[in-house]
Amino acid sequence: MGIVSVPGQACFPGPTDATCCFAENERGLIVKIAVIGAGAMGSMLGACLKMGGADVTLVERNPELAKRLADPGLLIRHYTDDPDSAASLPPVPMKTCTDAQGLGEMDLVLFMVKGPDTRAALSSAMPLFGEKTWALTLQNGVGNVDILAEALPKERILYGCLNMSAIMEEPAVVTGNLFGKVNVYLGAVVKEEAQRQFGEVLAAVFSAGGAPAAYIDEIDREVWSKMLVNIAVNASCGLVRLRGGEAGEDQQFVMLAVDMIKETIAVAHALGIELDFGKFMTRTLPAARKTSGAHYPSMAQDMMMYQAPTEIDFLNGAVERLGNELGVPTPVNTTVSRLVRVIEHNYARQYVPSGKSGKAAPAFRIRISEKFCKGCGYCVKYCEKQVLCLSEERSDKGFHIAQAAAPENCTGCLNCAVVCPEAAISIAKEG
Ligand code: SF4
Ligand code: SF4
Repeated sequence: MGIVSVPGQACFPGPTDATCCFAENERGLIVKIAVIGAGAMGSMLGACLKMGGADVTLVERNPELAKRLADPGLLIRHYTDDPDSAASLPPVPMKTCTDAQGLGEMDLVLFMVKGPDTRAALSSAMPLFGEKTWALTLQNGVGNVDILAEALPKERILYGCLNMSAIMEEPAVVTGNLFGKVNVYLGAVVKEEAQRQFGEVLAAVFSAGGAPAAYIDEIDREVWSKMLVNIAVNASCGLVRLRGGEAGEDQQFVMLAVDMIKETIAVAHALGIELDFGKFMTRTLPAARKTSGAHYPSMAQDMMMYQAPTEIDFLNGAVERLGNELGVPTPVNTTVSRLVRVIEHNYARQYVPSGKSGKAAPAFRIRISEKFCKGCGYCVKYCEKQVLCLSEERSDKGFHIAQAAAPENCTGCLNCAVVCPEAAISIAKEG
């Protein structure tokens, strides 16, 4: 497989033997799709769309990850409690690119970056948009649609939510799971015939690719129902530093979750979205505990492991913001949001338990070049020893650059140096 280089961009074409049944269908509605953000969920959805017949390009800034997603391809393991018995699909070689520049106009651009990165991702994805390009967000929570609408016509914006989980255990290896009969709910800001027609074809592509999907007019009810689970356990697990299942065993935690859920439902009702508290408590929450209670939720991972910006303003923070606008009191969500923001603002000053403190002399010298670091956070994400974090202050160039918060934990594995797209890190043995 050849690698094509464009100035400032690296592209990994992937195989050309895809059977684009939907690209050739009589409606001609979906041919080219770009997925912005090839994290665990973005790359898994990209693979589904490709297997459903679309011509998909994953836009991923990390060249090493982009290269692996192209060759050997994305390996998707079906989640089981026993990692050794996890069944895998054959690797799906993806077409990837490190930059949207030069890809040309798309039929659909799917945004799968984290909420705090949506505005920057939209700005870098603008070359992909022509008059007939659709945008789709399946990101967590609420608020991303408003950001897309700052630059795109509302008529071309679709949004929805997912009934699936995905964790990227190592670059280009995703462990995932699908829940329920419908895994992808799609809807539109403007609910007219053109949106319905495109949404139904897109749902058929997802379904053909292995993720049953549905286009529905009442999409807000699904989005907010999904958000209830995140509101209940995502930020709060990060605060109490427990997995979802562990936290759910504590009655005080459950009472906290119930308070946040009641506030969220009150805000949804003020927006005209009907949610059922009883169904959530008796069916949705127990099911979520069963299927994903063994993991730290994504925001807990951001707060504890990656020390990265969280999606708080798209979840509990969105409830706080909308509650203020609508005159609905949200004291518990507001308190939780404020606590998360305090932690985000002070990652570099977090307490480190003794035994992991700086008592032991570091065995490796970690050098991070302020000149080259762009603050992408890949090194933070891929360091399994939580050695690195992003600085609270911006550098002269305006970036939150990487720094070694716990150098004594470094094992010299070089993962950080390998994944850094700017070659900004060097690791050397001390002494
Ligand atoms: S060398 Fe390995 S352990 Fe050390 S900072 Fe880099 S990724 Fe972390
Ligand atoms: S050191 Fe490299 S990988 Fe880490 S934040 Fe900076 S640019 Fe990104």
